[in-house]
Amino acid sequence: MASEADAKAGRLAGSEADAKAGRPAASEAGSEAGSEIDRARAGDTRALARLITLVEGASPRVRSLIKDLLPGTGRARVIGLTGAPGVGKSTVTGALVGALRAAGAGRVAVLAVDPSSPFSGGALLGDRIRMQEHATDDQVYIRSMASRGHLGGLAAATPQAIRVLDAAGYGLIIIETVGVGQAEVAIASLADSVVVLLAPGMGDAVQAAKAGILEVADLFVVNKADKPDSHQVVRDLRGMIALADRAPGAWKPPIVTTVAMNGARDEGIGELVSRLDAHWDWLKASGELERRRLGRAREEITALAFAALRQRLAQSSVDALASRVADGTLDPFAAADELIAEHVR
Ligand code: GDP
Repeated sequence: MASEADAKAGRLAGSEADAKAGRPAASEAGSEAGSEIDRARAGDTRALARLITLVEGASPRVRSLIKDLLPGTGRARVIGLTGAPGVGKSTVTGALVGALRAAGAGRVAVLAVDPSSPFSGGALLGDRIRMQEHATDDQVYIRSMASRGHLGGLAAATPQAIRVLDAAGYGLIIIETVGVGQAEVAIASLADSVVVLLAPGMGDAVQAAKAGILEVADLFVVNKADKPDSHQVVRDLRGMIALADRAPGAWKPPIVTTVAMNGARDEGIGELVSRLDAHWDWLKASGELERRRLGRAREEITALAFAALRQRLAQSSVDALASRVADGTLDPFAAADELIAEHVR
């Protein structure tokens, strides 16, 4: 039985097995946050929202929360979706969630992340409205996250929000990033599979190349395929994919064309699901899943360490060193050595 469950686990439409599979209860940690996680696992979305709000902020409780829930994480499959504003990310995400739920997927979460906005709301409110069709589905959780300006910002908070959702039994987490830029690329890269959305007229292949998002794509979606100039976007994209250097056996990103505005008549969403499944199978078979997760852990640790160091250095004797460097009595290399020696033991 276990092997059958394993075989199923992670398939987009069969991830209930994943969500239910015997993870240790967070309450084993016996903490207040642990019981909050238990409530979230039992389907209390207000408890879940409180936990995500907690990790969005700079509360010192985040540390113990993450420590407590860590043993119950690592099973969720994370899909990142990025692209320029207006290409149809929310519409496609909504259609994807609908297709997955209709095909029997377990709990699905959507995190809409806006690195450039200091507020939740605004453009994100629009996303929520477009995804209202899922408002009555208690197995679907949709949440916006925006930078609150604290240390490390969203880049630090998003992995923690993913952990919370994972521990709460969401076997599939879609991270939708609003906009195109370095911060969005970084957040999309937290996913196991990264989907880059393009559409004719906006966020076309050339713009995507400039923004550096072609490199992170595991799959391309050319949305608004009902528009005639979508063929040109596909052609440009094919050209760029063909030009990219790829090692033998490496994944070649497929292009899926979609029309995502017709509700029940959405086109290409089924193909997107099966291409995502194929990518997931490749990730596991090639060892790339493990490599990516290790790489992400490495980056997360380094980012946290740098953030802590930067804060310490800012409160340190850098001013005294700076005036010596400025008046020519100390060279900057020796000053940097002194600063490090003072703070890194
Ligand atoms: P986002 O900013 O990337 O999240 O884009 P939205 O999902 O908000 O979509 C932007 C606009 O494009 C909306 O008015 C959608 O109705 C429309 N749209 C989305 N998908 C399609 C599509 O496949 N074809 C057409 N013609 N319009 C679409």
